Amino acid sequence: MATVPLVIVYAGGTADTAILRDLLEAAGVSARLGDEVMGTMAPYMIAGGTTAAIKVLVPEDQLDEARGVVVEFAERAKTEPEPGSTMGQSWECPCCHESNDGSFDICWNCQSERA
Ligand SMILES: [Zn+2]
Repeated sequence: MATVPLVIVYAGGTADTAILRDLLEAAGVSARLGDEVMGTMAPYMIAGGTTAAIKVLVPEDQLDEARGVVVEFAERAKTEPEPGSTMGQSWECPCCHESNDGSFDICWNCQSERA
């Protein structure tokens, strides 16, 4: 039985990689998750968010099927407004002066509360 090389199509956090794997499996692609690099990267590999620690891998021979699902998933994640983001102006931390996204109430860097 030949081993098909795995290709990384997406990297992200725990939640979005789990959702994407379910979407891929629903589309008939046997996706798996890995937190260490163990495959080649697809040309369109997409990193979501800042905690891109978990990779979504698919068999190389299912790359074409996977691409449509991954791209659609990434597009939707990008355009979907986060809850409460209407007042989502980015803000500067009073403590460490890092810039924070408006959807956060504490600083991502030093956990100070928003002023
Ligand atoms: Zn801070």
